Amino acid sequence: MIKAAAVNKHFGDLHVLRDIDFEVPRGQVVVVLGPSGSGKSTLCRAINRLEPIDSGEIHIDGKPLPAEGKALAALRADVGMVFQQFNLFAHKTILENVTLGPMKVRKVGAEEARKTAMDLLDRVGIANQAQKYPAQLSGGQQQRAAIARALAMRPKVMLFDEPTSALDPEMVQEVLDTMTELAEDGMTMLVVTHEMGFARRAAHRVVFMSDGEIVEDSTPDSFFTAPRSERAKDFLGKIL
Ligand code: ATP
Ligand code: MG
Repeated sequence: MIKAAAVNKHFGDLHVLRDIDFEVPRGQVVVVLGPSGSGKSTLCRAINRLEPIDSGEIHIDGKPLPAEGKALAALRADVGMVFQQFNLFAHKTILENVTLGPMKVRKVGAEEARKTAMDLLDRVGIANQAQKYPAQLSGGQQQRAAIARALAMRPKVMLFDEPTSALDPEMVQEVLDTMTELAEDGMTMLVVTHEMGFARRAAHRVVFMSDGEIVEDSTPDSFFTAPRSERAKDFLGKIL
């Protein structure tokens, strides 16, 4: 579903993505781990072309990333993204946040969009918050709203970039539970997270990045119990 081949990216002299090769097959959950500055967010952003790459190829669902225009907008509609900061539209209700994209981009009718949005808000456990504004919700509720908003576009794949790291500890689990359910429903997901419990439970594969390189790409079990590289051992020693 996502395929990256020989992807390179620099910020000035800094080589932030080095010959990145990896794949997220349909229905798989791939967790990306790595120290701060290793290039995880840049990789996520490259996948829906929020960040242009210098060389290499990225394919989504068998098609190369379009550079601009309608094709790029269509690609972004297929790739749902949830960031660390909730970035809901502050002046719109939760329901409006979820219906806006489908109505504008997918040309879904208002009533259908509302019905789908309410189903999704119900699925992430915040249907009773639909008429509120983002600032009236807890961080965990806002993040679940952001997930519902992304899902409303019927994406083929979901990218998560540290979706729980700005949350108070007691709200982390509710967001992870939502993501775990999504994974169990068969959604294709690329997840940057420091939540090792989620990685162990929900990931089919763990990709470990360090200094812009993919150093290991293995099952959670072998990564956590028998990391091969010194860099991964060092990383796990610090966080576990
Ligand atoms: P973290 O765990 O802290 O989120 P990360 O693995 O997501 O880190 P990136 O945000 O991808 O790391 O950053 C990779 C490197 O690129 C870092 O050294 C960062 O300082 C640098 N970088 C990121 N964005 C830019 C930018 N727009 N301009 C210049 N350098 C950047
Ligand atoms: Mg990051």
